Amino acid sequence: MNDYPELKVRLIAYTPDPEWVVAVAARLCYSSLDGEELLHSMTGDRVGPMLKTVIEKGHFSVLEHAVFSFLIEGVSRVTTHQLVRHRIGCSYSQRSQRYVREKEPRFIVPPEIRADEEKQEEFVKFCRQGYEAYKEQVASGVRCESARYLLPQAVESKIFVSMSARALYHFFQLRTCERAQGEIRTLAKRMLKEVQQAAPRLFQKAGPPCVGEGSCPEGEFSCGRIKKLQQKEDAAEKE
Ligand SMILES: Cc1cc2nc3c(=O)[nH]c(=O)nc-3n(C[C@H](O)[C@H](O)[C@H](O)COP(=O)(O)OP(=O)(O)OC[C@H]3O[C@@H](n4cnc5c(N)ncnc54)[C@H](O)[C@@H]3O)c2cc1C
Repeated sequence: MNDYPELKVRLIAYTPDPEWVVAVAARLCYSSLDGEELLHSMTGDRVGPMLKTVIEKGHFSVLEHAVFSFLIEGVSRVTTHQLVRHRIGCSYSQRSQRYVREKEPRFIVPPEIRADEEKQEEFVKFCRQGYEAYKEQVASGVRCESARYLLPQAVESKIFVSMSARALYHFFQLRTCERAQGEIRTLAKRMLKEVQQAAPRLFQKAGPPCVGEGSCPEGEFSCGRIKKLQQKEDAAEKE
């Protein structure tokens, strides 16, 4: 089931050959070669092992040399607010509610509300009331920047996001975890899928801590996935 059908995530640009770039940066740290030799020495077959080494050793600063840009649409203001809390190695450009007048916006309805027709109708009704009040204020001459206080957080937004691979690792750790809120978790998982397609070796260990690090910091709030993963690992070892 698609929990957030309006959500659209597009990876639109990234550092050319991101895996090679990160591998060269890493090799420079450990090599006495000069620049030209260094560049030539990083042949295709050496990239994968180099990435594996730096990721396993936690030498994450070299991942900052690869940057990925996403265009995200069909996302609520609730979620963009959570997203922009990620400050380090992240850049954002969001459609302005100050300068852009909302015209018949879509409202993002969380799945637990969408599952119940009556609740969904109520939810959309309240959203529309907020929007109608906004429209009336704007029609009476109030600036969008003031009238927008009436808009619900469910209102759809669009945001352009660029993050370094290091920032993405951190973001995925926190936001692909089952303990993260549903919409941002859905967004994070889509972003993870995109970057894993673009740079599979670079993001081989990206994901929640249970997947990336084999541990879970959630204690009694753990979703239980870590236990299942450990059981799977134990079974594989016995085979
Ligand atoms: C499940 C969940 C629940 C949450 N609930 C709440 C909540 O109830 N209320 C709330 O306000 N937020 C909440 N948040 C947001 C959270 O507190 C962070 O603001 C958000 O996840 C961004 O993480 P970050 O600060 O690590 O990321 P970034 O801002 O990208 O920072 C990355 C890392 O850089 C370092 N860093 C950044 N800034 C500083 C600094 N000033 N000093 C020292 N080191 C720094 C830290 O190591 C940090 O982890 C929640 C997040 C999650 C995942």
